[in-house]
Amino acid sequence: MTRPDAQPRASHFVDGAYLEDGAGTPIPVRYPATGETVATVHAATRAVIDRALDSATLAQADWAATDPSERGRILRRAADLIRARNRELSELETLDTGKPLQETLVADAASGADALEYFGGLAVDQTGTSMSFGADWAYTIRRPLGVCAGIGAWNYPTQIACWKAAPALATGNAMVFKPSEATPLCALKLAEILVEAGLPAGLFNVVQGMGEVGAALSTDPRVAKVTLTGSVPTGRKVHAAAAERMKHVTMELGGKSPFIVFPDADLDDAVSAAINANFYSSGQVCSNGTRVFLHGDIAQDFTDRLIARTRNARIGDPLDEATDFGPMTTEAQMQTVLRHLDTARAEGATVALGGHRIDRPGWWIEPTVLTGLTDDMTCVREEIFGPVLSILTFEDEDEVIARANATEFGLSAGLFTRDLARAHRVVARLQAGTCWINQYNLTPAGLPFGGSKASGIGRENARAAMDHFTEIQSVYVGMTPVEAAY
Ligand code: NDP
Repeated sequence: MTRPDAQPRASHFVDGAYLEDGAGTPIPVRYPATGETVATVHAATRAVIDRALDSATLAQADWAATDPSERGRILRRAADLIRARNRELSELETLDTGKPLQETLVADAASGADALEYFGGLAVDQTGTSMSFGADWAYTIRRPLGVCAGIGAWNYPTQIACWKAAPALATGNAMVFKPSEATPLCALKLAEILVEAGLPAGLFNVVQGMGEVGAALSTDPRVAKVTLTGSVPTGRKVHAAAAERMKHVTMELGGKSPFIVFPDADLDDAVSAAINANFYSSGQVCSNGTRVFLHGDIAQDFTDRLIARTRNARIGDPLDEATDFGPMTTEAQMQTVLRHLDTARAEGATVALGGHRIDRPGWWIEPTVLTGLTDDMTCVREEIFGPVLSILTFEDEDEVIARANATEFGLSAGLFTRDLARAHRVVARLQAGTCWINQYNLTPAGLPFGGSKASGIGRENARAAMDHFTEIQSVYVGMTPVEAAY
């Protein structure tokens, strides 16, 4: 496959244009399928961060005063431009993340475009309420927060940037976005496309860098809100830093979600969903259903079908559309997953499928199925963030609900059954921000997405995200003479 040129015109996008500052630490961008360096960017220096925040602050006031229908038109135009360039953007996302083109063509830029279109449509519908107090009355206005810092993870770089930028911009905010240092390329393309769609300079800036750049943004007094997609430990740090300065936060963090299969489920459907919920993006999906609870009556049949079908996965060049399964996005994440597999073996897990690094250049791990597990094992308790599916068995509804909830996480959950009364009864007792019944991992722009418990605070997507990028101003209107005691 011919490989597109990945080197961006410059490292950052600030005040409507590409910006370079070679004084920043070089960050090599490596293609996970081979380990080769395909581009280099530089971490933002203090000067770049300041320019981004200053230009965002300056631009935001006019943007907040812009007719929301104009804001919406710009976002919808950006959605159209993204769709028109889907292939080019998807190839870049594949080079950045290693995810197969088969996936990036449908799940990354495309999902970003959906968010821009959705929030572009909603921009005009930012309504308040009014109420009467006798002759007096009052109303509320939803006001933008100001400059928002967006900080992204490396698994869905385009989608994460769009999910944060679209509601922020629709509601009249500006954003300074820091992609993960592992995947710095695609957010720059989003910035370029937004400007081409008519977004005034300074409203969406991209600055590269490691955790320090994220920390500089999330502690800066010019920033009113921090929205992070990342791990729980980073979320704790960023949330604490934001709390110190009373900033608004949205935290989209990790998970260890339960995937429950009752004995009456359509097993082929459930197996398809378990494959998607564990091996799509080589398992690097926050909401994955990695604790697969199988009812004892169907456990063996399900496991046999799962293993037989997973053996058919085509592992190979991610730029070949026929490839189903790609590498891990970073070498460090591959090492983390290998360590988890060693621990699982040491704690007595049976490796029913896979379990090894694949012998080829780059950072590849076989799709892996673990059996013979108990709830206290590390591989069942901790987020692995790799292609590792853990099978557990259960006998009874109350039992599986209690075990599903026995985790600090609460991002997602899924269940498969033909008994819809049971489905809704169980969902009502699951501690998870998003639940799927007879489906898994679908996240349309119109459905709120986010975590309970340690998995996060706030919601992305849907009208809920508009609320998280605005605050209410209450206006009391006196219509009668003012009384005073003296
Ligand atoms: P990390 O938590 O390591 O990093 C997330 C981002 O935060 C990166 O850009 C990182 O910079 C930055 N960062 C690190 N330290 C700080 C700090 N002190 N202050 C501000 N920013 C900081 O997550 P990963 O990138 O490894 O992504 C994987 C995690 O993300 C998983 O736990 C996964 O579940 C979660 N995730 C959650 C999703 C959700 O919607 N709930 C969706 C996707 C992933 P850098 O790494 O560049 O140094």
